[in-house]
Amino acid sequence: MLVSDRVQKSMKQGSWIRRMFEEGAELKQQYGEENIFDLSLGNPIMEPPVEFHQELRRLAENPLPGMHRYMENAGYTETRAAVAKQLSLEAGVNFTMNDIIMTCGAAGALNVVLKTILNEEDEVIIFAPYFPEYINYIDNHGGIGKVLPTDEQFVPRLDVLEAAIGAKTRAVLINSPNNPSGAVYSEDFLHQLGELLSNKETKYGKQIIRINDEPYRKIVYDGQQCPQVWSHYRQSIIVTSHSKDLALPGERIGYIAVNPGFGQRKELIDGFIYCNRTLGYVNAPALMQHLVRSLQDVTISVAEYQRKRDVLCDHLSEVGYSVMKPQGTFYMFPKSPLEDDIAFVRELLEWRVLTVPGRGFGSPGYFRISFCVDDRTLEGSLAGFRKVAQKFKLY
Ligand code: PLP
Repeated sequence: MLVSDRVQKSMKQGSWIRRMFEEGAELKQQYGEENIFDLSLGNPIMEPPVEFHQELRRLAENPLPGMHRYMENAGYTETRAAVAKQLSLEAGVNFTMNDIIMTCGAAGALNVVLKTILNEEDEVIIFAPYFPEYINYIDNHGGIGKVLPTDEQFVPRLDVLEAAIGAKTRAVLINSPNNPSGAVYSEDFLHQLGELLSNKETKYGKQIIRINDEPYRKIVYDGQQCPQVWSHYRQSIIVTSHSKDLALPGERIGYIAVNPGFGQRKELIDGFIYCNRTLGYVNAPALMQHLVRSLQDVTISVAEYQRKRDVLCDHLSEVGYSVMKPQGTFYMFPKSPLEDDIAFVRELLEWRVLTVPGRGFGSPGYFRISFCVDDRTLEGSLAGFRKVAQKFKLY
């Protein structure tokens, strides 16, 4: 076998998102793309903001000398300074460029962080439902992912966390706004989590790192703001990207930010820069770093996603599904009317509506809908949701 046992094993377990994607591709061939309502992927439907194209044109017409060369592994100083400036404004904490490392998206940032901090078999605590790649990323670097439950509102249960943290816990990874539930964690929750972690640090005499995965921070609804994490826990870092807020997922541009108050911060940041290089990323894409430098205060139209959320959420509630209205992201995570979420997702497939079973996110009994799709797909899916609701007498 050319492929290692380890990789074969994880490929077999596969991803439910991928499986649905493949089923969708087959159906599209069979029935024509316009007759399939694919709500399985989190690929932003929006184009990047007009400012992005303006800046791209400006740079193409006025290239900077050496703008495509290698650079420092942490990224351009000007870009890191621009990120630090905007973050300081938003967070009310004083960041400098030395707290920022530019990365290949949030995925690259997560791998850099995990590679840097994990010893063999260290535990990283995550909460179901979770972004499924977490399991792969933790495994990439020899860690053990410990999955804990959330409550009815998809907020991590602190009583369970309290009992689960032990001497092997290296990090707690949270994701708010959350993929797949759309939950946004409150200020109060972040504060309590911070206190809990500080107490555990004292008990075990070691640093426990809180990793905040925040690519959806700007995608929040109803005029809300996503609470800042910094003041609630010193050992905090964020990993994020412009995949969602500037609709640039294919361009792989993101960053790590480290709390200026983090204990032994310099050692950690040097580790991140080293791992960004040695994992083979070398540095985040040069052109994108030049571009996002001046786009730090720009975001795609969130109102457009909110409108899509409302159309879908209202329809689902009307026909009897039990669903928490997402406060952010472009996903929702309704309860599956059938105990078997795979069987339920197959029922929707009969109406050519593609969603993903909750077990793919560690939460059987639910299913994920992605509403970052065009209106035709969204509106076309409504009949399928209604037909299946009728079949199971939800209304
Ligand atoms: N974290 C979460 C929760 C995500 O949903 C995603 C992408 O969908 C990522 C990280 C990775 O994002 P990026 O495209 O920036 O690597």
